[in-house]
Amino acid sequence: MSTTTDTSEIERAVAHLADAKRLLVALDFDGTVSPLVDTPSESRVIPEARAALTALERMPDTWVAFVSGRPLDGLVRVTEADDSALLIASHGVEVRLTGGGVDVGLTDTERVRLAALAADLELIVSETPGSKLERKPVGLGLHTRGVEPDVARAADDRAREAAQRRGGFLERAGKDILEFAVRDATKGDGIERLRKHVRATAVLYAGDDVTDEDGFAVMHAGDVGVKVGTGRTAARFRVADPDAVAALLTRLAELRGHVA
Ligand SMILES: [Mg+2]
Repeated sequence: MSTTTDTSEIERAVAHLADAKRLLVALDFDGTVSPLVDTPSESRVIPEARAALTALERMPDTWVAFVSGRPLDGLVRVTEADDSALLIASHGVEVRLTGGGVDVGLTDTERVRLAALAADLELIVSETPGSKLERKPVGLGLHTRGVEPDVARAADDRAREAAQRRGGFLERAGKDILEFAVRDATKGDGIERLRKHVRATAVLYAGDDVTDEDGFAVMHAGDVGVKVGTGRTAARFRVADPDAVAALLTRLAELRGHVA
């Protein structure tokens, strides 16, 4: 199905969502409910969208969630989310469900695998002055900033060998960091976990970026995917900018308010 900007079709889709038995409103943050800004930490939900989301959250059988590439702690800050907010961070790797607490959904096998590699890397770090081990929600990072290049390379090689020996790790090399993850999640994975968690019968997902396509890919019949701005998309609908998203959310709150 092609993407449409037709306002009457969007209105129909929103009206359909407003009637949903159990509604999940999932939104990307940057560029979707907040304008893109130069200082990411200063980014905030635009007031009209905030008002609509607050209204929606108070309605029965209605849940609001943010789905972002930002790490969880940063996402909590910019969304000013309280403990009850549903958050998908780090592109689906970090999931915070109702009742606080981070649930990254690691299996026992993944947990054991991660602990085993952590022990290997700790040994390498202890023998490589200046290096550091970072524990991430689903992985480990070996930092070698400031370490002699030859020494750093040797440490990286040992870490790679260890990860290969353990098996099941995705490797990502960055500047002075080598990362190993047991999980490579997407926003789509996060949305599916939320859908199950709240037992949603319909989902709205809006996003502006390439990674949001993973979210549009998991839209079922009756769900509504909204691409914000330009660019290729699998979403059924397209709106221009965060102000248009805010208007859509306001309309949804208005219609659902009458139903609820
Ligand atoms: Mg975005």
